[in-house]
Amino acid sequence: MNHQINPRYNKFSRRLREIFGCRVQKLPLDAGFSCPNRDGSVSYGGCIYCSSKGAASPMLDNTDNLRAQYEKSRRILKRKYGNCKFMLYFQAYTNTYAPAAKLRKLYDSALVWDKQDIVGLSVATRCDCAADDVLDLLADYAQKYYFWLELGLQSARDHTLKLINRGHTLAQYKDAVTRAKSRNLKICVHIIIGLPGEGREDIIAMADLLNSQSIDAVKIHGLYIIRDTPLAKMYYRNDYIPLTFNQYVDLTCDFLERLSPDIIIQRLSSDPGTDELLAPLWMSNKFEVLSAIESRLEARNTRQGISILSTS
Ligand code: SF4
Repeated sequence: MNHQINPRYNKFSRRLREIFGCRVQKLPLDAGFSCPNRDGSVSYGGCIYCSSKGAASPMLDNTDNLRAQYEKSRRILKRKYGNCKFMLYFQAYTNTYAPAAKLRKLYDSALVWDKQDIVGLSVATRCDCAADDVLDLLADYAQKYYFWLELGLQSARDHTLKLINRGHTLAQYKDAVTRAKSRNLKICVHIIIGLPGEGREDIIAMADLLNSQSIDAVKIHGLYIIRDTPLAKMYYRNDYIPLTFNQYVDLTCDFLERLSPDIIIQRLSSDPGTDELLAPLWMSNKFEVLSAIESRLEARNTRQGISILSTS
């Protein structure tokens, strides 16, 4: 089967092509924010898996200033994909962790860099950094640009959120989604498959939660272990065993089969930097993971949402 013609899940790349008529790439940026879960406002040390880059793409060089980051990535992406357009993606750390006026200045300054190629804006943050005035500001951008709010949730279980030191509860996340949705913001939720103590029923509970909330997209990451993190210590003590390749592929398919077909899939695998990756090493081969998920769905003869559609 040609996966491009008949995808078994709701691919973001396809949606972007329908809207803009060309390939659109998210272009990650590190604007020098911190995170309340690292600097002591909520907790010290951060989520147990968080790298010193604040969950940013390995392609990001935060020693460059913001404009230089853009120009460098733009050149790389144009070389790789030809005539594509870009969505600015404020990715590293917590990108609304500042007063709204400062955020406005920052986003405004970036959006004028390249009026020809920048077609949208995506801002990743935590639910405890989404105060009403910040959401009002983001809603303002959503009126003028193609805009996504990315919210980290990772687990639908409070006991797991505690175990991974997320520093927020499920109730806080739900409240942020309700307030963002009341402003018509498009929300992409980040989740992790393979968290300590979690298995198939937790993944299914996550799909059910996302289905119930009218969120617009999901980004799925497999949990991987970065050197010198609390998770690495758990791994060395044998308190955490990472998923095998096949377990990840199966759980991701289980999740997709349960997820509403209306929810866009922005990402299906992680993209760790090989220098910092301790385990599992298969995680660094993103394309093999993607291809295995598509083949597994095909072998099961299923697709996104099939288990809810067949029971409704
Ligand atoms: S919320 Fe993000 S940046 Fe903050 S500690 Fe967790 S993973 Fe790191």
